[in-house]
Amino acid sequence: MSRPRRAARGLARLVLLAAAAAATAAPAPRPYTVVLGIAQDGGLPQAGCRRDCCTSGRREEVSSLALVEPASRRWWLFDATPDFPRQLARMAREAPGCTLAGVFMTHAHMGHYTGLMHLGREAMGARGVRVWAMPRLRAFLEANGPWSQLVELGNIRLVPLAGDAAVALGDSLTVTPFLVPHRDEFSETVGFRIGSGSPGGPGSRGVVFLPDIDKWERWDRRVEDLVAGVDAAYLDATFFDGAELPGRDLREIPHPFVVETLDRFAPLPAGIRARVRFIHLNHTNRALVPGSPERLRIERAGMRVAVAGERVGL
Ligand SMILES: [Zn+2]
Ligand SMILES: [Zn+2]
Ligand SMILES: [Zn+2]
Repeated sequence: MSRPRRAARGLARLVLLAAAAAATAAPAPRPYTVVLGIAQDGGLPQAGCRRDCCTSGRREEVSSLALVEPASRRWWLFDATPDFPRQLARMAREAPGCTLAGVFMTHAHMGHYTGLMHLGREAMGARGVRVWAMPRLRAFLEANGPWSQLVELGNIRLVPLAGDAAVALGDSLTVTPFLVPHRDEFSETVGFRIGSGSPGGPGSRGVVFLPDIDKWERWDRRVEDLVAGVDAAYLDATFFDGAELPGRDLREIPHPFVVETLDRFAPLPAGIRARVRFIHLNHTNRALVPGSPERLRIERAGMRVAVAGERVGL
């Protein structure tokens, strides 16, 4: 081999070694959350609606969040919605190479658990996907078809959750359910705090997912305190105000109106308000429409509506 060629090879090897060293020295990419949908259980469009909200061609998937840990190539889903296939497809693009490691369930209303059916033999034929659920929800899934078949065939493996008991995922991630008042016909209802590091410790981060709750006043905790302890909080924004569903008694389907949440947070510092991201919007909620007076009112209050695909680093 000629001397110049040998020198060139040596140089190439040096460059490769340097690149490998740089790769091993780079810090592992941090975990993050991704919004997979922002609509209420019925989605957008909603079946049977012939108004502009649902005939304009716009669509939003049902509210759901993913937690991704790139270092271990795993991700976890929060709520299995009727849009589960499209949300899994989005994750294949968002986090290629990462696999679904489990599902955390808030409650047994149609927008939050029925996507589990896609794990069964008619679709994915999954093996032992962990599904974390509170006691009543676990009993409901075990006792009622078609969910009971997922358990019997081993498509899913139910894992117990308890209120305020943190579940550790990997080295630094925790997921902590907290009970909230809601129409609990089939199961209790929880929200989740997703955290990295030790809560309150240096460098710790947190995200809240709370898509469904009755009025804030019916809860024995203060939502302001919840938001103050995290970096982003995805909060129930089903209805904008009490005038939204003419002909339906909103007392039968109570939620905190967006205007009530705006009022509660108005006295707080801008830095706290900026953490509020509205999610779980009914098809009738005009805040879904960018530029609408309702959307602008939220933005002027220093808060915002969540966007599918947005990420928060942990
Ligand atoms: Zn819901
Ligand atoms: Zn509609
Ligand atoms: Zn619900």
